Amino acid sequence: MLKLAVLGSGSSGNSAVLCLGDTRILIDAGLSAKQLCLRLELLGIDPDTLSGIVLTHEHGDHTRGIDVFTRKRKLPVYATTHTCALVREQVKSEVVWRPFEAGNGFAIEGIKVESFSVPHDAVDPVGFVFRCERSSVGVLSDVGHVTRMIIERLRGVDTLFTESNYDEVMLQNDTKRPWATKQRISNRHGHLSNDQTADLIEHIASPSLTRIVLGHLSSDCNTADLACSVIRRKLEEKGFAAVEVECADRSDPLPFRAAARTETYESRISEEKPAKTARVCESTVPAAAASQSNSNSEPREWSQTEWAF
Ligand SMILES: [Zn+2]
Ligand SMILES: [Zn+2]
Repeated sequence: MLKLAVLGSGSSGNSAVLCLGDTRILIDAGLSAKQLCLRLELLGIDPDTLSGIVLTHEHGDHTRGIDVFTRKRKLPVYATTHTCALVREQVKSEVVWRPFEAGNGFAIEGIKVESFSVPHDAVDPVGFVFRCERSSVGVLSDVGHVTRMIIERLRGVDTLFTESNYDEVMLQNDTKRPWATKQRISNRHGHLSNDQTADLIEHIASPSLTRIVLGHLSSDCNTADLACSVIRRKLEEKGFAAVEVECADRSDPLPFRAAARTETYESRISEEKPAKTARVCESTVPAAAASQSNSNSEPREWSQTEWAF
């Protein structure tokens, strides 16, 4: 069963960790190397035992710890070809780059990783779905608006870790930020509001959905109580009141939790619905090899064209 913990989340830095047995994947590395190590140790993870780092995009709040963190550890870093090209300019350490194309899948040890394009003001931003036989975790951070592709890719996940950046009224009333910054946050390549995240969840919620972790909350234009209440209200409206909702914090790690309920998995197996596994990436070729060889690439099941939602 996959287990997810969040080391920290917010505009000051984002990083989470996903485990399956001895496989440990860092999702973004936007905290200082010192904080990454401290918080991993707090969660009982030896920083030297990570299997790799995957990056959603190149912004500093998702990548600032990579250089120092990888100086002592020759870790593979998985990012799209364009994101790799930008991040490697800032990194002096000997990183083992594993570029992939947005939309392709790859595997890190026993965890299958699917990627998909998202709209954000970065060079080639992506979201992820991580899968093992028993569970799936969707990760969506820094997204200006929800596309049909995002819904298709995240529908049916057991755990969703998604940004819920701002409350629209609080952002409008905010006096700290200049108008241009507010526009950047709320435009179609900025960040998701609580209401936009609620709309996304309305579309992707299924009986498998067990847990939602909200992240990247604005420190001035959102609160954990507000974000959670908007999402819980939507879940109750749609008959998914049992789904757990919590917010990741910028300073304190959110401990490991299993991605799915055991009974959800058991009932899923007994129902024998093959559609549940139809999207599992079967490719086990390394990302670098997959991106270099069309014959080895995972077939593109979904078009990368974005439709406005
Ligand atoms: Zn960010
Ligand atoms: Zn960003």
